[in-house]
Amino acid sequence: MNYPIDEIRSQFPVLALHDHDAKPFAFLDSTATTQKPEFVIDAMDNFYRKHYSSIKRGVYSMTAQTTDAYESARKKVAKFINAQSENEIVFTRGTTASINLCAWSYGRKFLKDGDEIVISALEHHANIVSWQLIAEERRAKLKVIPVADDGDLILEKIPELIVKGKTKIVAFAQISNTIGTENPVKEIVKIVRGIDPEIKILVDAAQSAPHKKIDVQDLDCDFLAFSGHKMYGPTGIGVLYGKYEILESMPPLQGGGEMIDQVTFEKTTFALPPDRFEAGTPPIAEVIGLGAAVDWINRTGIEAISDYEQEILHYAESKLKEIPGLHILGNPKHRGSLLSFTLDAAHPHDAATLLDEDGIAVRSGHHCAQPVMQRFGVPATIRASFGAYTEKWEIDRLVEGLLRVNRIFG
Ligand code: PLP
Repeated sequence: MNYPIDEIRSQFPVLALHDHDAKPFAFLDSTATTQKPEFVIDAMDNFYRKHYSSIKRGVYSMTAQTTDAYESARKKVAKFINAQSENEIVFTRGTTASINLCAWSYGRKFLKDGDEIVISALEHHANIVSWQLIAEERRAKLKVIPVADDGDLILEKIPELIVKGKTKIVAFAQISNTIGTENPVKEIVKIVRGIDPEIKILVDAAQSAPHKKIDVQDLDCDFLAFSGHKMYGPTGIGVLYGKYEILESMPPLQGGGEMIDQVTFEKTTFALPPDRFEAGTPPIAEVIGLGAAVDWINRTGIEAISDYEQEILHYAESKLKEIPGLHILGNPKHRGSLLSFTLDAAHPHDAATLLDEDGIAVRSGHHCAQPVMQRFGVPATIRASFGAYTEKWEIDRLVEGLLRVNRIFG
């Protein structure tokens, strides 16, 4: 495969760091957050050093240029996920904020006593708790699509869970951050729409946006949420995509500057989407950074990244399988760029602590998905996750580190 891995790695300053033994640092935690290429860092640095001003306020040329840069990032994001218009892109703080915005704005207006929300058993807490909170307020019921032992959602159960006229929202992740299952989004959308086309469908794309081509028109979802920091962009910025007519039907969540049309003490009218949902001075540098991250992914090629990561994934699977007492969760047939596993010899936190001594960064714990841990009967897992810059030697280091864990604890 002709993937310019050396060139790509050289663009990420953190990847050049060495651990205390002068060994190169093996970063296997891209599911939590990705490292940042110089291209993104420079875009934000350049903005702060040379162009800094607020947006949409004032007529001087610098603020006009900043407004253009901000809105041009919105256009880039719209194109990145093939939205019909940039007006379908709402900037938020991240996936969590996007799901909460959807739940509170859409939910408060459209959910009523006895309505139902369906999520999946593979969700991150962001896609569970947000719905629990609004369900409690609106006296709606939360239902869960179960997951089979192999880590796949049991799609046959969906028709039993959905009640025409009662189910208002179905929300699920495209790729599980916990065990890596890639859910068949189009198939689920088809099942749901076949029962009731009025149901609104939210896709949590936090773990898919950095790894595979997303086309919201092809997926035919109503909402899609993702985070900048998981796709080589900065923290503090994310996206809620919504079909325009749905966003237009939703009330604002926060009041303040820039989200209004007319304000009087008697009555305020609101701006059209997306401004309606972006009250106050937004995270301008972060939006510019996200635009740069989209440019960086486009330049590298999302298909190339995707294929390369699958190669790394398969290499890692084959190597990890050789380790005695190691059990990988999830279905190898459709797995995102991560491996979640347990070791008979050691608790995940102990294993991760020893790996850290070897300069290997993995995540251990419940990965903000406690119900997934309960479902699979484990307290926690070790998660090694990959990005556009992961190399095979990092997997080899992980294998050596895990063998050492086995030696020490076994
Ligand atoms: N959904 C999934 C599937 C995730 O993996 C994450 C983060 O790990 C989130 C939601 C929350 O993302 P953020 O913390 O960026 O809001």
